[in-house]
Amino acid sequence: MNRQIVLKSRPIGAPQPSDFDLQERPLPDLKDGELLVENHWLSLDPYMRGRMSDAPSYAAPLQIGEVMEGETVGKVLASQTPRFAPGDWVVGRGRWQTHAVLSAEQGRKLRPDFPKPSLALGLLGMPGVTAYTGLKHIGQPQPGETVVVAAASGAVGAVVGQLAKQSGCRVIGLAGTEDKCRYVTESLGFDACLNHRASDLVPQLKDACPQGIDVYFENVGGRVFDAVFPLLNDFARIPVCGLISFYNATALPTGPDRTPLLMRAILTKRLTFRGFIVTDFLADWPEALQALEQAFTAGTLQYREQVLSGLEAAPQGLIDLLEGKNFGKVVVQLKPEDA
Ligand code: NDP
Repeated sequence: MNRQIVLKSRPIGAPQPSDFDLQERPLPDLKDGELLVENHWLSLDPYMRGRMSDAPSYAAPLQIGEVMEGETVGKVLASQTPRFAPGDWVVGRGRWQTHAVLSAEQGRKLRPDFPKPSLALGLLGMPGVTAYTGLKHIGQPQPGETVVVAAASGAVGAVVGQLAKQSGCRVIGLAGTEDKCRYVTESLGFDACLNHRASDLVPQLKDACPQGIDVYFENVGGRVFDAVFPLLNDFARIPVCGLISFYNATALPTGPDRTPLLMRAILTKRLTFRGFIVTDFLADWPEALQALEQAFTAGTLQYREQVLSGLEAAPQGLIDLLEGKNFGKVVVQLKPEDA
């Protein structure tokens, strides 16, 4: 039997445990070209909130009753394709379930000596590649520039900041607790990290960026963006990677329409805002994964995981992630013996 968590109802605002349902279904028979995977690790990511809504987006929404979207790492149990053999480790869109049937094209095989399977969901997977490609193609940090990174302790932000440091930049992070800020400076090596909940965030950020901001890696929007915006230098680059502070929002913020101010700054400061989805840079994935793995193996990229235990933990894990209660890349361990 396959245990699965399906979308039971579309959330209004923050998702609730009642929006999810745990079900059991028999495993389907394999067809030619398919493989049966036992999922060992499930990634929880902010984009999953978007899939639960039917608002227009870059990807189709989940249907009610459909198994929740998600990337997994697992072991091949049976294969009807010569490209995979039982026992291979495979990364794919295995969703929130104990077993997945993937086509050969949907799976990426991990080398037997890959450092640690769950890393393929974080530093050495989609979030790491997001950081690498967003910085390379849009941020384009130059030595001596100031780079500000939102959600700096998280899966994407932690990698962005470390790569920017390696490019010779001064790097300032923003995070939601003092503990996270300490981790960002002491373990990740950022030059400074500010708590975005501080009432005096605006003057603190100004003090931390005496030369202004050349690159702002946007992961959250809202209050953090408001503090960053006046400090952007001429020709600043803003990779718009995520806007997590709006993901549970049900209405636009109140207040004056500030679009004219934004547009005027874009014009007069010649700013580059560019939204991107990591799959826009598919051609860069091999280069990014290789560079990230080399740096990780050499000990020059630090990384933190938050491990949740069992499929049942996934709904609350996603709810918490969207409220900033996670600390590091969130993965759900579906098979205890991998501990
Ligand atoms: P993280 O590991 O960074 O976890 C999310 C973090 O967002 C929380 O820990 C919290 O950190 C922060 N956060 C949550 N709510 C708020 C809020 N209201 N205001 C400020 N910060 C908040 O997640 P990821 O690294 O996986 O993702 C980071 C961003 O990157 C997300 O926006 C995500 O959607 C985006 N993304 C985009 C991709 C793309 O292809 N464009 C691919 C992957 C991710 P804190 O406590 O520090 O506030």
